[in-house]
Amino acid sequence: MTKYDNDATRRQVLRAGLAVVGGAVAVSAAQAQDKIDPKMVQYQDSPKDGNKCSTCVNFEAPSSCKIVAGKISPNGWCIAYAPMEDKKG
Ligand code: SF4
Repeated sequence: MTKYDNDATRRQVLRAGLAVVGGAVAVSAAQAQDKIDPKMVQYQDSPKDGNKCSTCVNFEAPSSCKIVAGKISPNGWCIAYAPMEDKKG
């Protein structure tokens, strides 16, 4: 007498439903900087040829500039220097 034993093999199939959410984070590298980098205009902390920020039309007291970013010294200077008009008389 042969006895057939049926071994029931249990197979566990795990189905992992992974919901992969592709969170695309849009990193904006572009900075909303509307002023020029001081390096781009060769800004320096000292006057040049008697010209300095405090006499430039772009200077905004006490320490900023309309077109150049960062802290600007009244005694600084850059290639974008534009002298104020002297009112004579
Ligand atoms: S010299 Fe340059 S940094 Fe200085 S106020 Fe003028 S534009 Fe701005």
